[in-house]
Amino acid sequence: MLDYLIVGQGIAGSVLAYCLKKQGYKVMVVDDNHPQSSSKVAAGIFNPITGKKLVKSWKVDDLFALVHTFYPTLEKELNANFYFPMEIVKPIQSIEEQNLFISKSGNPDWSGYVEVLFPETEYASYLHTEEGGARLKQGGWVDAKALVNAFCTYFAQEKMYVQASFVYEDLVLRDEYVLWHEYKAKKVIFCEGYNVLQNPYFSWLPLRTTKGEQLIIQADLPEQKMINKGVFILPKGDKKFLVGATFDLTEVNSITEKGKRQLTEKLEKLIRVPYEIVDHFSGIRPTVVDRKPIIGNHPTHTQLAVFNGLGTKGISLSPYFAQQYVQYLQGNSALDKEVMVERYYDKFYHKKA
Ligand SMILES: Cc1cc2nc3c(=O)[nH]c(=O)nc-3n(C[C@H](O)[C@H](O)[C@H](O)COP(=O)(O)OP(=O)(O)OC[C@H]3O[C@@H](n4cnc5c(N)ncnc54)[C@H](O)[C@@H]3O)c2cc1C
Repeated sequence: MLDYLIVGQGIAGSVLAYCLKKQGYKVMVVDDNHPQSSSKVAAGIFNPITGKKLVKSWKVDDLFALVHTFYPTLEKELNANFYFPMEIVKPIQSIEEQNLFISKSGNPDWSGYVEVLFPETEYASYLHTEEGGARLKQGGWVDAKALVNAFCTYFAQEKMYVQASFVYEDLVLRDEYVLWHEYKAKKVIFCEGYNVLQNPYFSWLPLRTTKGEQLIIQADLPEQKMINKGVFILPKGDKKFLVGATFDLTEVNSITEKGKRQLTEKLEKLIRVPYEIVDHFSGIRPTVVDRKPIIGNHPTHTQLAVFNGLGTKGISLSPYFAQQYVQYLQGNSALDKEVMVERYYDKFYHKKA
């Protein structure tokens, strides 16, 4: 009998299945290999300081300590390249912002993330940085598509991968285990991203489908740094750059003129050089109203569980919470209250009533 059957091999299912296997569990991963899954189109950026008010990302110290060890170790184990630490350049476009950065960079709590403030002359040839800018440390990106592809190869080699569409009606629940086709498992953990809304056992979860559109542009910009302000500009080699991303609450996964316009307007506020759009694509993020992952058992069927809701930060959240969840499953530690699925059980009972 399997210990865990994992449904979905995006970032969530991959990282969780890997962490479970490392603890000696028998695991099988089922995925339909959708080419436009969130993980296959994600920019994969991890950025410690976000938003206009320059706030530290939630749990950034814990999450980022792990990001910088987990992915490089994984690269060696999976024999693939997907982890790219990279300086993040944040242009400063007003005196207020400049004051904010000066106060933050002098604060020991922030100095690990803000490297140095630079004068406007430094990037003046290609960026609008009227008041200079800041360089952020500890950021970078993970090539999420390369990551899930490398995981897929690894799982296949380890004979723990089935490419199939998981049809929920085929799942048979018994008191102590589940059956799905020829597989018998103590527990199924659903990691289907936004598709969990089609899952009859978990469709009550308050997951939202947040579409993101992105562009690939060709431009004469520096290729060793990421630029982030309103949009990110991520070098992809060969003078090509990924520009993104929009946020649109819809389940329709398609590119639009509106999305393109939103991105180009922000881009033009940021860069001074000409550019050409060479591609435009979209994906759907599994986001949650309170912006926290959703982890744990179904309210009445304890053989069923979810690991989902990684939202806009799958790369930085997944290693930390997959490891925490495995510890929890082993009875060694608690889950953070903020991520426990129990916080939404009332939605299940409300829907049933
Ligand atoms: C445009 C865009 C930009 C993003 N940028 C970033 C970023 O810069 N940094 C960052 O950290 N995150 C980013 N994200 C978010 C990140 O992509 C998500 O947090 C992450 O991919 C979610 O992973 P997941 O495994 O939960 O879902 P998914 O990637 O959707 O994976 C679910 C998998 O399950 C499969 N599946 C679903 N249902 C079934 C079924 N019934 N049977 C079999 N298989 C099934 C799907 O095909 C898929 O392979 C971005 C997302 C988008 C869309």
